[in-house]
Amino acid sequence: MLPMVALVGRPNVGKSTLFNAFTRTRDALVHDEPGVTRDRHYGICRLDEERPFVLVDTGGMAGEDEGLSGATQRQARAGAEEADVILFVVDGREGPAGLDHEILSWLRRIDKPVLLVINKTDGVNEENALADFASFGLSDVIAVSASHRRGLDDVLDAVMERLPEEGLAAEMEHDPERIRVAFVGRPNVGKSTLVNRLLGEERMIASEVPGTTRDSIAVDLDRDGEKYRLIDTAGIRRRARVEDAVEKFSVIKTLQSIAISQVSVVMLDATEGVTDQDSTVLGAVLEAGRALVVAVNKWDGLSTYQREQTQAMLSRKFTFVQWAEVVFISAKHGSGLAELYRAIHRAHASATRKFTTAEVTRAVEMAYAAFPPPVVRGHAAKLRFAHPGGDNPPTFIVHGSRIKTLSDSYRRYLENFFRKRFKLVGTPVRFEFREGD
Ligand code: GDP
Ligand code: GDP
Repeated sequence: MLPMVALVGRPNVGKSTLFNAFTRTRDALVHDEPGVTRDRHYGICRLDEERPFVLVDTGGMAGEDEGLSGATQRQARAGAEEADVILFVVDGREGPAGLDHEILSWLRRIDKPVLLVINKTDGVNEENALADFASFGLSDVIAVSASHRRGLDDVLDAVMERLPEEGLAAEMEHDPERIRVAFVGRPNVGKSTLVNRLLGEERMIASEVPGTTRDSIAVDLDRDGEKYRLIDTAGIRRRARVEDAVEKFSVIKTLQSIAISQVSVVMLDATEGVTDQDSTVLGAVLEAGRALVVAVNKWDGLSTYQREQTQAMLSRKFTFVQWAEVVFISAKHGSGLAELYRAIHRAHASATRKFTTAEVTRAVEMAYAAFPPPVVRGHAAKLRFAHPGGDNPPTFIVHGSRIKTLSDSYRRYLENFFRKRFKLVGTPVRFEFREGD
């Protein structure tokens, strides 16, 4: 559902540097929190807020210093073949290498828009670098320096021109009144059981709409006068199929489902505790800025002791999402579902709440008066006023002076102050600080 762009190229040309530059979020805090793990090979580029896309670093999947053979390379190729646009990265200092030619001839066979990105052109003659690769016969060529973040806007513009139009925007416009809820989690946590249960409970399915370009499927559900659009990475479709082999966990599908949702329900399996894969999924939700509900499934059949163990583990591992509501459910027996719906609504209401400049400024003034930023090297930051900067997640733009000296702990204080004052639950909150007016 989100378009996909693949980075292709031999080792050491700068693919991961480009990957990081494109997928880096402004919300650096998220990554510093313990417990958040990131997938290094897939990320979402949001430099253009309106048109995010999935970026895949195929080099990460390929073994270092391997030729274009072997299973790992086949995987890289499969990744690239699924992409809407391919960024073919080469090294502008070293010029064309043998492996570049191999990649080129393979790219010619798969008929995809290819952009030749000549990297590391810092400190070299750009004209020469371009001339070196003229023999490749590619018409779309951009010289960049990934490590200096130069030329990245040109790459972004060129990608945007080539991305398919439909996708996210169309999905968002589908029916603005519906709460878009994604159910994500690793295989076997019970996603499809839950979604089928939610649907079966009501038998009021308005429509069953296949995902536009990829496998994720959305289903509309009306319940108690509320409208939902349930987005499931695999489950709904599986219902219609004869028992399938274990479905491969698809990071891309998960990222896509999260991206088109307003609220993401991250499902865990109570009988297995919290795994690294669970943390990766959770990290993806935070990075996307989506509202979050944690649903601990398979709560049936656990002894009191096991339940206590699980709860202790959750509070230990999820300190960084203390604002998220955790509900304990049994998809199989249908218990805890009312609580799940309530948590989804609270998260959605918080995530989409509208703020006025006056109330936001007032909150900053109060937080500042109660606890002004400490003096750092003889100076203290001052916070003056604020205004709302968007929703889902709620974003606040705070103006002041000596903003650079604001510590992370002060930023967290401000966030907690806002959470309390505006009763924000179940959603990340973002702050942008600006120097001056
Ligand atoms: P990958 O193997 O293709 O993912 O390449 P990396 O992103 O790991 O980069 C390989 C090396 O090239 C690293 O040491 C980077 O710091 C360096 N590098 C990446 N981009 C640039 C650039 O634009 N200019 C220069 N001079 N070095 C770069
Ligand atoms: P998915 O891969 O996340 O869609 O997981 P499924 O919905 O296919 O469920 C995986 C397995 O867990 C199936 O055997 C389900 O019957 C079982 N399961 C799902 N929900 C529950 C539950 O609430 N309790 C128990 N005990 N088993 C469940």
